[in-house]
Order: sequence, then structure tokens, then C-alpha cells
Amino acid sequence: MELIYESTRNSEEKVTASQAVLKGLADGGGLFVPTHIPSLDIDFDELAKMDYQDTAFFVMRKFLTDFTEEELRSCISEAYDGKFDTKEIAPVVKKGDVYFLELFHGATIAFKDMALSILPHLLITAARKNQVKNEIVILTATSGDTGKAALSGFADVEGTKIIVFYPKHGVSPIQERQMVTQKGKNTFVVGINGNFDQAQTGVKKMFSDLKLAETMEKGGYQFSSANSINIGRLVPQIVYYVYAYARLYANGDIAKGEKINFAVPTGNFGNILAAFYAKQMGLPIAKLVCASNENKVLYDFFATGVYDKNREFILTSSPSMDILISSNLERLIYRLTGNSAKRNEAFMNELASDGKYRITEEMKSGLSDFYGNFATESETAACIQRLFQTTGYVMDTHTAVAAEVYGKYKEDSKDMAKTVIVSTASPFKFTRSVMDAIDGEAYASMTDFELADELSKISGTPVPRAVEEIRTAEILHDTVCEPDEMETVVRQFLAV
Ligand SMILES: *Cc1c(COP(=O)(O)O)cnc(C)c1O
Repeated sequence: MELIYESTRNSEEKVTASQAVLKGLADGGGLFVPTHIPSLDIDFDELAKMDYQDTAFFVMRKFLTDFTEEELRSCISEAYDGKFDTKEIAPVVKKGDVYFLELFHGATIAFKDMALSILPHLLITAARKNQVKNEIVILTATSGDTGKAALSGFADVEGTKIIVFYPKHGVSPIQERQMVTQKGKNTFVVGINGNFDQAQTGVKKMFSDLKLAETMEKGGYQFSSANSINIGRLVPQIVYYVYAYARLYANGDIAKGEKINFAVPTGNFGNILAAFYAKQMGLPIAKLVCASNENKVLYDFFATGVYDKNREFILTSSPSMDILISSNLERLIYRLTGNSAKRNEAFMNELASDGKYRITEEMKSGLSDFYGNFATESETAACIQRLFQTTGYVMDTHTAVAAEVYGKYKEDSKDMAKTVIVSTASPFKFTRSVMDAIDGEAYASMTDFELADELSKISGTPVPRAVEEIRTAEILHDTVCEPDEMETVVRQFLAV
């Protein structure tokens, strides 16, 4: 049966999966959501036998119903291959009393690789399916990790160009270096003098600008998105929740059907929304622990039912979570309104005009799958140090936010269910903050690359290829602009 996608802001706008992937954002600024969540409908003994690629195929075909079996298999095998430094793709490791689902074994050592390794293939397939003649221009706003993962996925992909906007002063030195050294004739990287929310707002504005779309069409281009507003990002992210559960079951860590928790370091609400979809599919998940850093807009939302972005934007040691407008929350809000595009749109209009909205008590009662809390900078650092001292395992700062918040959840709830901490980045991507947390004084005078060598020594893990590559790489991108110049920059790059 074909699964149809509809816009969260216009119930009339309905598209196929491949069209949703192609468009990225619905007309009028809505997001595409599946009209129902397919059920998992499989015995866990079957699931336990599957490798990552088989699991991906099993889950994704339920969502991308207008892709043929062959097309989907081919996308999967091109995505999850030797670019990952382990055959398991997403290993689950036990440290202390929790499990870590390591999603950082791909080309850019952050979890964005899980979806962005496959998105270019899904997109090209979708373009072919829908007889698209235009060149596809990927417009992306990044808080640091999406940018590099998307660049790496789309570099030199025929029929595409990619433009990435990142906050010039809001990413780690390694993240910035990864992006500005990106090769590929079709790649373009721009720093903006602003924060991630400004970058994201600017990109969304270009998407819904009909005049710009016309100009693009004349030039033989059309936009698409590599951000998690694209359903082609979300669907591949459901896979690793199913896979993690199957691994735990296969290893005898949990009984068949035993409920487990996932703790997810959250920014744009994409990763945890994928976990929520996995739960809707029937994966035995108890709580989804939504972990924020000091930009704790989601924690406040879960506590009060008020989403309020009117607050100071704080630059933290977990920059990929420095976000005040969590785009994917819209998909959850839509669901909480009983799939009412009208009611959802009213909330989103309030967000755009006043920077806040309040959901009803009835909607709030629909949030019981989630537990929200946050970790301060010092708590995050202490958590990294504590786990290193007790187990020798080094977490990155984002993962540590989730580990710390899980600790708070356990204390609050006394829930002893087995829990998986979703590990979203390699510590080598945030070496300075990580090494500072372990021993601030000893490492203060070292460069980022010396720190990487030191981290390798103390953790007993090799320096990842992604870091080795940029040690000596040439800087190829140096464009910087103001947030209100983003469209001009795009026009210049495309010569339209
Ligand atoms: C993007 C990112 C996050 C946040 O994920 P969302 O899907 O935006 O909530 C967390 N950690 C790291 C390392 C990331 O790159």
C-alpha cells in the first residue's frame, strides 16, 4: 500500500514519498509527514539476524513506498559501505550501567552521516522517478555537523549543487576546518555573522520565496533541503533505533519485547522524533529522554507547555545543539493537534510573530512519551570526566549532555529500565572541550591537532580519518556574509 505524505500546514498538499524527498519543505512552509506510521510487524528473532543494511531496507521500504526494492537496495548499499570505519555501521557498546549507540563511525564522525550518506542517493533516485530536468540545489543551514556531512555526501554528485551556511563564530575549530576545506566543484560554503537560528530562518525564507523559485526555474535549478526538515533525513534515522534494539536482543542483554529507554541529545528535534516514530511503529520503547544543553527551550516546553524562543542564545561546548527553534517539533505539534493543519499553522504563526506559543492541556497530556531536562556546561564536563575515570571511555560533549540528563531522569523516576544513550559525535570532533573536561590544565597550551593525538593516547582509539584528512588540507572556502545577504550570495553562486 502506498504511503502518502501531507503538509503540516495544508491538508490539501499531499505527495508521494519521492516527491516529499525532492521538495524537502512543503509549499507555505509546512513539513511533510506520513499520513500514518507503518507498523514494524516482525518477530524480533527475525530482526536480530539482520545486519545494518538489511534493517535499513526493512524499515525504509515501509516509508518510501514508491521506491522500488531495487532502487532502495542500491541506495542503501552505496550509503552504508567502507565510508564507515566499522562493519556494524552503528555499534552498541556497554559502559558502566548504560549502553551507547555509537552513531559517529561515518565519514564526518557525527551522527548526521547516518542519514546524509544516503540522502543524495534517495534524492537522485527521486529526481529520476519524477522526471526532474532541473539541477537540484541543496540549501543547508548547519549548526556544525549537518554541513560537513551534507557536503561530503553531495560533493561531485552529478545533477546537484550544495550551498551550506554555518554560524561563523558558532562551530568548533575542527567543524569549521572540515567544512572550509571541502573539495568538489559543486560545493559552496558560507559563514554568516549570526547564529544557527538565523541561518535556518534565512534558508526557510528562500524555500518559500515564490519569486526566487521562478528565477531558479528559469536558470534550470530547483531547491531541495538536506536539513532534518526533509523526510529523507528522518526515515534513515529510524533505522538505527530498530537496529540498536535488535542488537541488544541478539546479545541477550534484553528479553524479547522488553521495553528500553533512549536518551537523545537534542537540538532540532530530528533525531528524537525518529525515535518517537520507531516507538509508533511498535518498537518497545518506554521513555524518550530529551536532553538539552543550556539552550533549554525544549525542557521548558515539556515542563510548562509553552514554547518560548525569546531568550538569550547561549554558545555552549555542544554547538550542534545550540538551537532555539527546533524545527522538527512542528511534526509532533501537528500530531498533538490530531493532525489539524489549521491548528498547527496557528501555533507556527504565533511562533513566527511572537516567538512563542502555548499548547492546550489536552495536547500536553500527549507528551507522556517524553522526559525533558537539561545539563549545564559544568555538569556536562563533569560527566565526561567521571565516565572516563571510571571506565576509560571518552564521550563527546553532546553525548555527555544526554548521559547527564539520563542520570537526572533516573534519579527523578527511579526507573531501572535498560537505557541506550544515543552517542551523536566522536570526541575527536570536539577535542578541546573534551580534553578540557578531562584535565583543563594539562592540555591548555596544545593545538587542536596535538589534542587529538593526546586523546588517541588516553582513550586507546586511533585518530579518525576525518581528522587526519584536515590536518594539512587547503582552505577552499572563505565567503562570509550577513544573515540578510544570504539570498544575494546564493544568486551570485548560481549566477541567476
Ligand atoms: C545535530 C546534532 C545533534 C542534534 O540532533 P537533532 O536531530 O538536531 O536534535 C546532537 N548532537 C550532534 C553531535 C549533532 O550533530
